[in-house]
Amino acid sequence: MSSAAPRPGLREVGPYDSPQLEVAARLNSNECPVPLPHGFADELAETVRDLPLNRYPDGRMTALRSALADRNDHPLDGIWTANGSNEILIQLLLAYGGPGRTAALFEPTYLLHRRLCWLTQTGIVDTWLAPPFRIDDDAVAWAIRRRPEVIFVCSPNNPTGNAQPLDAIRSIADGTDALVIVDEAYVEFGGGTALPLVETNPNVAVVRTFSKAFALAGARIGYVLTSPVVVEDLERVRLPYHLSALTQAAGVVALRHADEAASELDAIRQERDRIVTTLGGIDGVTVHPSDANFVLFEPPGDAEVVWQGLLDRGVLVRDLTAVVPNALRVTAGTTHEVDLFLKSLEEVLR
Ligand code: PMP
Repeated sequence: MSSAAPRPGLREVGPYDSPQLEVAARLNSNECPVPLPHGFADELAETVRDLPLNRYPDGRMTALRSALADRNDHPLDGIWTANGSNEILIQLLLAYGGPGRTAALFEPTYLLHRRLCWLTQTGIVDTWLAPPFRIDDDAVAWAIRRRPEVIFVCSPNNPTGNAQPLDAIRSIADGTDALVIVDEAYVEFGGGTALPLVETNPNVAVVRTFSKAFALAGARIGYVLTSPVVVEDLERVRLPYHLSALTQAAGVVALRHADEAASELDAIRQERDRIVTTLGGIDGVTVHPSDANFVLFEPPGDAEVVWQGLLDRGVLVRDLTAVVPNALRVTAGTTHEVDLFLKSLEEVLR
């Protein structure tokens, strides 16, 4: 007997992994460095105790979507939630991508966009943006001309950190009837939101997450703000009861603590700006301005050697050399973590 053959090409790709190591400063996944306050945990524990877990959860996630509608001043029937924004993205591709259809990517961008296209057998057309990685008029014209069914815009963009001009996103949305997915995983840290476009352009889907500014990466909650017609399509592709009662409850309770989570953002932005300024003053380092909670930079010498040198000193950053030549990405953590990063980098480069 032989083992079953998977779909062609499957074993040519590895699993999508980011190292999870016990180190002094974990600055590789753009998480919030501090958890939500105890008040959140106590309220969540109480809520979870009372959940009727013998029953399936609310398949339409009404309480969570209503709370998001209030918070974002957006109609309930234009809101959908899932297990992290990654699941939102794959559901959008299941509905709007697929065999014989294509998605347009502005590279360099979030690696998972490409991977989710592959998973859903959606074709890809891509264009490379040079620093400062801005979607300019040529890039807008390119995206429209290629006539894809889906267009990804990531703003602020991971891993480069820059927000994209709203005018460019509007021109894309006006110039095509493709689904324009605006991935706003980092929007709370800087850059404007494309949400106002949804009213005039029902083909715009603004995708957000609780994993970054909301300090809830462990809960896996993402959402999309879009037009009701897109939400109806998502209902056609989602698995039954895809979002557990535990997750839905965590989201509702977290939204009651949204202002506390937001109060941490200034400190994170300050650490981000300190990283940009300090790296900018180091000879041979190229640093890219950031609207997000992370910074992309190119050290002098071999970035992989620098990455290992940092790790040896207890600082884990993201090796992005496969995406941007010789680049590393560091998350803006606590003051203490950023101190450790800057001190270690100085030692490694010495
Ligand atoms: N979009 C972007 C641009 C991201 O960087 C990430 C997380 N790395 C996600 C989406 C996914 O986040 P989550 O699934 O945790 O919501």
